[in-house]
Amino acid sequence: MADFEVIVAGGGVAGLTAGLHAARAGRSTLVLGGNAPGGLLLSIEKIEGVPGFPEGVAGYDFCPMLQEHAEEAGAEVRMQELAALEPVEDGWRLTADDGDLHAKAVILATGARLKQLDVPGEERLQGRGVSHCASCDAPLLRDQIVGVVGGGDSALQEALTLAEAASEVIVLHRGEQLDAQATYRERAEAHPALSVRYRTVVEEILGDDKVHGVRARDLTTETAEDIELAGIFVYVGLRPNTEVLQDRLELDDDRRIATDAANGTELPGLFAAGYVRRGSLGQAAISAGDGANAAKAAHRYLQTGEWAPDALAGATGGPHA
Ligand SMILES: Cc1cc2nc3c(=O)[nH]c(=O)nc-3n(C[C@H](O)[C@H](O)[C@H](O)COP(=O)(O)OP(=O)(O)OC[C@H]3O[C@@H](n4cnc5c(N)ncnc54)[C@H](O)[C@@H]3O)c2cc1C
Repeated sequence: MADFEVIVAGGGVAGLTAGLHAARAGRSTLVLGGNAPGGLLLSIEKIEGVPGFPEGVAGYDFCPMLQEHAEEAGAEVRMQELAALEPVEDGWRLTADDGDLHAKAVILATGARLKQLDVPGEERLQGRGVSHCASCDAPLLRDQIVGVVGGGDSALQEALTLAEAASEVIVLHRGEQLDAQATYRERAEAHPALSVRYRTVVEEILGDDKVHGVRARDLTTETAEDIELAGIFVYVGLRPNTEVLQDRLELDDDRRIATDAANGTELPGLFAAGYVRRGSLGQAAISAGDGANAAKAAHRYLQTGEWAPDALAGATGGPHA
């Protein structure tokens, strides 16, 4: 069974940064990166708020850089899924695509996936007008009218990407005001091709072979209306990828993992970083910091052999330790 000091599950910004810092600390490190490096960020046309990229950076440029950086530091990155993990006497046994692995410490950074609306038509028309990827599908919808469901950062950011190609973007939002940060709200309000329908929920996605519209309900008037759309993009929140834990840890109502200040969970040698961690604010910079913090704490745990996670926080000996 292949043996590593640290195995990181998840190849998003949290996981690859954890891999980078575990390797920099001199630990034999494996990152099980899932399908492709970068996680949710991979398909973002312009990632904003990442230090060093004042103009933003495309996910397809940024994510391979994260993988290269981790590999250059000495981490091995395998595009494989973690299927199961269980505590064993001297660490953790993990099951991945190529078989069983052993690690002394594990950092779970499996992130999240976009939630579905769970309305009729959605599953059937997935990939045929129902999409979660504005940058992938915007060119196919040039000069057409499209809808975006949601009112947070992701919804508005992706609506703005779509508005560069589509003739019109209609944002359908169940709330009375947008939840997105000011920068997206202001840009959305100023964009001539973008409008918002408040207190509106999508009840059905319409179309036979491909989307031709949605049935939407106005929550104020309680009336339903069919809106013609060539595509519908769904950004109504994230569902954490914590199924692999199979009830080994207690999760919060949101299915995220509670950790202490050193990213330690309630189980010795198991850390969590990035979006899967309770309280993570869901930004790339925050997830990267989280990954680095978890790696430092894992390194310290392997040095001392003591599982006192809170005491691991900041105990790694100075700014460049
Ligand atoms: C539409 C949208 C736009 C966004 N734009 C921005 C932005 O501009 N700026 C910003 O700072 N943030 C942005 N975010 C937020 C950002 O994407 C997240 O904060 C960040 O991706 C979280 O990183 P993560 O590594 O925790 O998780 P993820 O990005 O979800 O990565 C987790 C990785 O783990 C993999 N994985 C899952 N299960 C397993 C398993 N069992 N085994 C192995 N691997 C597994 C997944 O495939 C994925 O590769 C955006 C999010 C969305 C949805």
